[in-house]
Amino acid sequence: MIDLAYVMFIKHDKHQNKIYMEGKIMARMFWVVCPECKKKFYVATIDFKNKKDRRMLCPFCSARFNEDEALEVIR
Ligand SMILES: [Zn+2]
Repeated sequence: MIDLAYVMFIKHDKHQNKIYMEGKIMARMFWVVCPECKKKFYVATIDFKNKKDRRMLCPFCSARFNEDEALEVIR
């Protein structure tokens, strides 16, 4: 399981006719299982860093829960 994903973009500058690369560090991602409907969905933790009481929103049943309340956390 990848914790931090480094994504590369290849860009083409039309004016100078040059191709260059640009990188970006993405959020730490993991799967959680909703305690309400028991469905699995993917979340990014960058929003939850140092915000322990910030709750995740289940896209299936709209339940709100934090990481400790999740039925399962798959990293
Ligand atoms: Zn749910």
